[in-house]
Amino acid sequence: MIRAVTETQLRVSEGIWVIFSRDQLLVKKGTPVLHIGRWQELSFLHHHKSSVVELLPLADSHTLEKPVFVIDLGAEFPQHPDWEVCSMRSVLGVGTDTQFYVLARAWQYVHFLRTHRYCGQCGARTEQVDWEMAMQCHQCKHRTYPRISPCIIVAIYRDNQILLAKGVRHKDSNMYSTLAGFVESGESLEHAVHREVAEEVNVKIKNLTYFGSQPWPFPHSLMMGYLAEYESGDIIPQEGEIVDAQWFDVDKLPTIPPKMSIAGRLIDAVVRRALS
Ligand SMILES: [Zn+2]
Repeated sequence: MIRAVTETQLRVSEGIWVIFSRDQLLVKKGTPVLHIGRWQELSFLHHHKSSVVELLPLADSHTLEKPVFVIDLGAEFPQHPDWEVCSMRSVLGVGTDTQFYVLARAWQYVHFLRTHRYCGQCGARTEQVDWEMAMQCHQCKHRTYPRISPCIIVAIYRDNQILLAKGVRHKDSNMYSTLAGFVESGESLEHAVHREVAEEVNVKIKNLTYFGSQPWPFPHSLMMGYLAEYESGDIIPQEGEIVDAQWFDVDKLPTIPPKMSIAGRLIDAVVRRALS
């Protein structure tokens, strides 16, 4: 949920500031990822006063001591000696779980506003609904909600080995990870897992078990994780998608994603399973 911030709130509250410039995060040099402070300290952003919103916490989410205030600078790139921009992905390596979830929600909201300024049905301008996260067309009343794209992610094991692949995006970083892909329209999650694995590495799997999920704000995925046992087939990496895929012994893993990501946690689960 989102709420417009009042003048009084800005004057008296100390908040956690999440500030986006283009697709990057504006952070104060030498401080943790999320800046905690007062509006008065952000004089270089005061022309955005009317667009500051408060991101209300989810009922069961990570507890935060301060309200979260979000500002979207859009294409503006503020010049201030004490502030710099950093990529959302770089936060993964340094931030805490809570910071990641706050950022993930804030970014998905901002991305939603930026991409839903006009009605998809009649083309008129939309307006922000102020009691829920939605945009509504003032002309035809069509309402839209933030888009969530379901993705499956799966760790495949056999004996004490795990199948990991290097995607084209990680060609240079040498990072190996679990397989993942978007769920297609009309497809069940389980079907998507079997299809992705067959497409990306040409193997058959069995004994699928659900592991857990994680919102992934690049830009609006919801990763649904599975563990699967290898059944048959030799690895054939999919051209144009997978640079390399191999079976790795769990005690000789290559560079893998951090544990904060669901990929990292899935790999950890396979390692623990093999060692238990
Ligand atoms: Zn409309």
